[in-house]
Amino acid sequence: MAKLQAIRGMHDILMDETPRWQYLEKTIRQTLNQYGYQEIRLPIVESTELFSRSIGDNTDIVSKEMYTFKDRNDASLTLRPEGTAGCVRAGIEHGFFHNQTQRLWYSGPMFRHERPQKGRQRQFHQIGVEAFGFTGPDIDIEMILLCARIWRRLGINDVALEINSLGTAESRKQYRDTLVSYFSDHRQELDKDSLTRLEQNPLRILDSKNPDMKDLIGAAPSLLDYLDDESHEHFNALKRGLDNAGIPYQVNPKLVRGLDYYGKTVFEWITDRLGAQGTVCAGGRYDGLIEQHGGSVTPAIGFAMGVERLLELVKLDGGEQQLPHVYLILSGEQSTLSGQTLAEELREKNASLRIIMHCGAGSLKSQFKKADKSGAKLALILGEDEITNDSVTIKFLRQNEPQISVNRAEIVDFIEKQLFTG
Ligand code: ATP
Ligand code: MG
Repeated sequence: MAKLQAIRGMHDILMDETPRWQYLEKTIRQTLNQYGYQEIRLPIVESTELFSRSIGDNTDIVSKEMYTFKDRNDASLTLRPEGTAGCVRAGIEHGFFHNQTQRLWYSGPMFRHERPQKGRQRQFHQIGVEAFGFTGPDIDIEMILLCARIWRRLGINDVALEINSLGTAESRKQYRDTLVSYFSDHRQELDKDSLTRLEQNPLRILDSKNPDMKDLIGAAPSLLDYLDDESHEHFNALKRGLDNAGIPYQVNPKLVRGLDYYGKTVFEWITDRLGAQGTVCAGGRYDGLIEQHGGSVTPAIGFAMGVERLLELVKLDGGEQQLPHVYLILSGEQSTLSGQTLAEELREKNASLRIIMHCGAGSLKSQFKKADKSGAKLALILGEDEITNDSVTIKFLRQNEPQISVNRAEIVDFIEKQLFTG
């Protein structure tokens, strides 16, 4: 039989890594709470149409990266490649956009059939943040400040902010014509992907990851020269807000996002510590998307952080493993039931006590070995004598002190004194 293995590009997150994940998730959750964002939990599978309609047929995601399959009823379903589409679907379905504002976040796995490499998996995790019903730019600024606070709290100080404005749909139309004629004049320098995009979605050529295209893209006309007054005003106010908050940024007129639904503000946080996969967080405004899906006109903006890439940058201090406090060693026939009762009593009395009860019998010697290896500070020994005397023997595993006998009624006090005071 062939060896069973995880699917290429999909990784197990093992026990030595989960403490860092929990630390990162907790820090981000706390920060989101400070700004009044509420969690929403969304399905991992949605109808394929939801993504093709919102992300856009000519994007990399929809044209070649989606995990799409037919279910048993022959419906076309897709593992979500991102979270915004599902969030918009939920808001329309449950009517929480209409005449309301919402600040929401979600987290979880996303799926894209890309070439696996450093910083790029086929199952990866995002924490996404969305705000609905705000025309901005105050909320645009808030979102960027929220990101900056998360980086500070995580001790990440080497990410840089890039911003751009994609303007309104009208201003993009004009720019599109200019761009088509520019790239048509350089048709022979375009790669295959860009030739397709030239026909279908020329702005997306700017998002090409092909280094051979870099110079050509660099010399292309700038979208910022085509912004209408409204977009200009919005973008200037965003920049003023960032200046006021002391957030450094770079205007990158070639910054477009890999999804079609964006307009006006777009931004990315980028590091040079992760090689080619340097974007750790990206987002922008998508004022037209809700209406496009049949909802009422609702301005919106959001961003998503790539959790795996962030974890690469995080200083690891906060993520220690949670070692047990106590390892309970059992000896003799009676001790299993009595030990179970004791462990439950202790957990009941102090909810932050971490107790491992030895399971699987074995000699005292082997139990002591396991107790030591567990990292626990104390071993509690419950044998026939202890049961008769209504006591427990306590051995200090990390201190050179004689073992002592403690009355069963006083164990919690004793443990608390040992572990939680000076
Ligand atoms: P990239 O340019 O790196 O392909 P993207 O534009 O496709 O990114 P978004 O759809 O904006 O990315 O997703 C937001 C964030 O999610 C990215 O900035 C990145 O940190 C992370 N991300 C996206 N795709 C992957 C992936 N395949 N593996 C790991 N992280 C990813
Ligand atoms: Mg991508």
